[in-house]
Amino acid sequence: MTPAPVGFDLDMTLIDSQRAILASFAAVAAETGVRIEPEGVLSRLGIKLQDELAHWFPPAGIDDAVRIYRAHYLLLLGPCTTVLPGAAEALAAVRAAGARAVVITAKAELPARLSLDGVGLRADEIVADAHGPEKAAVLTLIGAVAYVGDTPADMAAAVTAGIHPVGVATGSFGEAELRAAGAADVLSSLADFPALYRKIIP
Ligand SMILES: [Mg+2]
Repeated sequence: MTPAPVGFDLDMTLIDSQRAILASFAAVAAETGVRIEPEGVLSRLGIKLQDELAHWFPPAGIDDAVRIYRAHYLLLLGPCTTVLPGAAEALAAVRAAGARAVVITAKAELPARLSLDGVGLRADEIVADAHGPEKAAVLTLIGAVAYVGDTPADMAAAVTAGIHPVGVATGSFGEAELRAAGAADVLSSLADFPALYRKIIP
């Protein structure tokens, strides 16, 4: 029997995209004259771009802001994205067990794919434009055994899907916040994932 897939969040779980994200929001602010506070963006990191922009723009301004953001992000993601410690080994551990590593992210498909390619990470599948309950639906659909992510919403998605929520404290949230959202385990980095994975898989 093929072992069940493992779902991974992308931003601040597999890759450090914070610099590219903040620089892109700064570019949107510069081009539109709308003030965007980095602290606000960071406190919600992991939600969809449109939902973050809704904190700063009226509904009629969001499409334009998305367009400006994406134009900058596609240029910035190469030079400004780094791989997080242990990410490659975590994906490799899943693959070595004969399972698929599926990246489920709120990011759009193109920047998600380019970000992974840029840092040399390979996912078996990418499911883009998914956040919160949508992540739970995807996890259920693919029959994942665990979801690995850096936000309370990621942990809640795994709980809703009835699978093992693995928190990794490499984003904006610490162990206590991730545990409060349902994390069964919290890692300080993905370097500890292979050992945990061996305990999770039957
Ligand atoms: Mg994330």
